[in-house]
Amino acid sequence: MRRISIFGATGSVGANGVDLIRDAGGPEAYRTVALTGGRNIARLAEMARELQAEIAVTAHEDCLPELRDALAGSGVRAAAGSNALIEAASMPADWVLSSIVGSAGLAPGLTALAQGGTLALANKESLVCAGGLLRDTAAASGAKILPVDSEHSAVFQALGSDNLESVKEVVITASGGAFRDWPLERLAAATVAEASTHPNWAMGQRITIDSASMFNKAMEVIEAHELFGLSPDRIRVLVHPESIIHAMVTHHDGGSIAHLGAPDMRHAIGFALNWPERRPLPVPALDLAALGQLTFREPDELRWPALRLAREVMQAGGAAGAVFNAAKEQALDDFIAGRIGFTDMGPRVETTLATLSAQPGFGHAPDTLDTVLQWDRAARQEARA
Ligand code: NAD
Ligand code: MG
Repeated sequence: MRRISIFGATGSVGANGVDLIRDAGGPEAYRTVALTGGRNIARLAEMARELQAEIAVTAHEDCLPELRDALAGSGVRAAAGSNALIEAASMPADWVLSSIVGSAGLAPGLTALAQGGTLALANKESLVCAGGLLRDTAAASGAKILPVDSEHSAVFQALGSDNLESVKEVVITASGGAFRDWPLERLAAATVAEASTHPNWAMGQRITIDSASMFNKAMEVIEAHELFGLSPDRIRVLVHPESIIHAMVTHHDGGSIAHLGAPDMRHAIGFALNWPERRPLPVPALDLAALGQLTFREPDELRWPALRLAREVMQAGGAAGAVFNAAKEQALDDFIAGRIGFTDMGPRVETTLATLSAQPGFGHAPDTLDTVLQWDRAARQEARA
């Protein structure tokens, strides 16, 4: 029986992963090693009991007594804190879903990769801040990284066994988020509640706001660069309000292969779970006649400056990804807390990149977890409002 673990099981992606394991037969089909979460202890305990996990870990040490109580008599071990997360990630598993949000997902992801299994990666932040380190860790242990971000799963599927040499460019689509059609002059006054809605996808709050600012798409462009080894000029973003085509691979022979599907993360997670096979998933197939039409437009970089920053980050290389991600996370914290406005996030990230690029060592890609975390801390401090 395959052993699986889910990091960030109580979140939007993680809970979809739990749904798929349940759908496939739960403990009859998979042996669940570790499930982790944050402060939603009731949900974490319920999932751990249902899947008969070996261990359930909350990221917060003060939540341990509550988790212990909730798991009493279940046979599931309770643990808490960052060391416990690492311990859980070092327990051998064949398939690990990395679905913690933010750079907090990096250390458990690296630890899981070092065990040599498959890492189904939703946590794009870890690729943005430490792509080279993830690839090197996977190469050393023989682990496989499979994309779970829907656009990257779509690129992976559209590429199939095709050689990258024949690829002219890869297009990843963006819905445009909450403010796609807002007049530009309204954006400065956009509230957290307004930014936390998404036209097509149901996701965690942070990625939803990042969709409105396109920081999410900027991260995904860098993610595509790191995952597929594509040069920045071969990655294009296209606004596609319906979110039906997730990505398209265009070859030098003029042919394009697109991946289509309903905006439902269970497809990408389930694809990564079953790969290299394709098994039935509880995801409705598309009805194109009912949809009627699909529309596309060029992204406007005045509205979404994050897309320009992504190109600058890829050109700079070195520690730029780690700084970009951490500055973005800090700016997002400050926006959510009401300390800065929606349109202050882009300039704050840009200034942080400019300031830290003058520091020694910026040009070297971080090759240890400690170095990544040093840049992460420095960038948060610099970006803080
Ligand atoms: P979420 O906020 O819904 O869930 C996050 C999970 O991480 C929760 O289980 C939470 O308890 C845990 N967590 C948060 N902070 C933590 C910390 N400091 N230490 C340990 N655990 C922590 O987020 P989400 O929307 O599910 O996104 C998860 C990841 O997947 C993100 O990297 C996101 O960019 C990526 N992603 C999400 C979607 C989506 O549809 N939601 C799609 C593509 C990619
Ligand atoms: Mg995505």
